[in-house]
Amino acid sequence: MPRLVMKFGGTSVADIDRIRNVARKVKREVENGFDVIVIVSAMSGKTNELVGWVDSISPLYDAREYDAIVSSGENVTAGLLALALQEYDVPARSWQGWQVPVITTSAHGAARIEDIPTANLDAKFAEGMKVAVVAGFQGLAPDGRITTLGRGGSDTTAVAFAAAMQAQRCDIYTDVDGVYTADPRITDKARKLNRISYEEMLELASLGAKVLQTRSVELAMRYRVRLRVLSSFEESNETSGTLVCDEEEIMESNVVSGVAHSRDEAKMTLVSVADRPGIAAAIFMPLAEAGVNVDMIVQNISEDGRTDMTFSCPTNQVARAEKAMEAAKAKGSINFRDLIADKNVCKISVVGIGMRSHAGVAARMFEALAAEGVNIKVITTSEIKVSVLVDRKYMELAVQALHDAFELDNAA
Ligand code: ADP
Ligand code: ASP
Ligand code: MG
Repeated sequence: MPRLVMKFGGTSVADIDRIRNVARKVKREVENGFDVIVIVSAMSGKTNELVGWVDSISPLYDAREYDAIVSSGENVTAGLLALALQEYDVPARSWQGWQVPVITTSAHGAARIEDIPTANLDAKFAEGMKVAVVAGFQGLAPDGRITTLGRGGSDTTAVAFAAAMQAQRCDIYTDVDGVYTADPRITDKARKLNRISYEEMLELASLGAKVLQTRSVELAMRYRVRLRVLSSFEESNETSGTLVCDEEEIMESNVVSGVAHSRDEAKMTLVSVADRPGIAAAIFMPLAEAGVNVDMIVQNISEDGRTDMTFSCPTNQVARAEKAMEAAKAKGSINFRDLIADKNVCKISVVGIGMRSHAGVAARMFEALAAEGVNIKVITTSEIKVSVLVDRKYMELAVQALHDAFELDNAA
């Protein structure tokens, strides 16, 4: 039997009616001749609620218990969907991560999938099971404890199953009908893309477009999984949604394919540090050791042997970064006059593989932001993207201005 992976996110399984709606969609694919592996998220809001409970009982929580608690939302939806399918006469069974098993690293809260042995599922499919409903987001650490894959991790569960079970396709059902040129919640001019390359999707996801978890796109690219994003609230057919595929499969594309934004950014500046060989290492080593994910970095030109060093990191890591820098100062490995944290910034990026062969994208981007009076604080570029840090109050304005400047309302 050909196999298909279908993944349903939180809003798609938010209540019993929606779970029935999902069951009908799954049943249709069974009738089309597929053995189906369905990956489900927790009901919308559930994971946030569980995380909130953990935080309120223990702010510096034990990550093993965090995973034991936060993974539980998916167990409920997996069981409910299996029951809904049985009510529609579809032979279905729920599977928690450890039952499959989904073997992961022991990095609790951000574990990576290492292996999915398929023998257990294969045996049940051979016995007549038509649908395996797998709880997304969960795994099993080498020491036998439950892990989770990081927020949005059910997307990664889905792609990993598609690769392991050699599924024909991995369909990600969500609350939008595909991948858009920008978050449709930010600009109503955003257009749905029929196709997008793995590389562009990877950049968009890592730069804040949370429609797919970054790791899921990495896996899809590595194992050449045909990945499709589509709506669980609309009727769909073979050509619905957005296909994430090889760039060779895309006939024509714009220089810029999309604009991404990330609200969760902070900018930190070490004022007046000594400009000497080894200063960057002396700053960024302790940050790395403290688990701070540094993204953008700028060093100003120096005056009288002193310079300012600026970097960005996620907002919730600011306290950790401050502590690491103060400790390094106390130890004497670095010296600075002041440490300024600005939590009111956001990152806006334009992404497109066309940038490899077209000059002037950055200039056009800066011009469009200047025309709106948006000041740029930090800039970084790579082969297929340009990112800027700007004040958070300009987030919507900046996304819209760039969407207009690169004529993305003509995209398809
Ligand atoms: P799910 O719960 O189904 O996993 P998510 O909330 O994680 O859904 O992801 C879907 C959301 O991603 C959309 O509602 C949309 O607001 C957001 N999003 C951000 N950028 C984009 C984009 N470029 N295209 C489509 N959706 C996007
Ligand atoms: N329920 C988890 C979360 O909210 C995983 C997921 O939905 O992908 O992050
Ligand atoms: Mg998601």
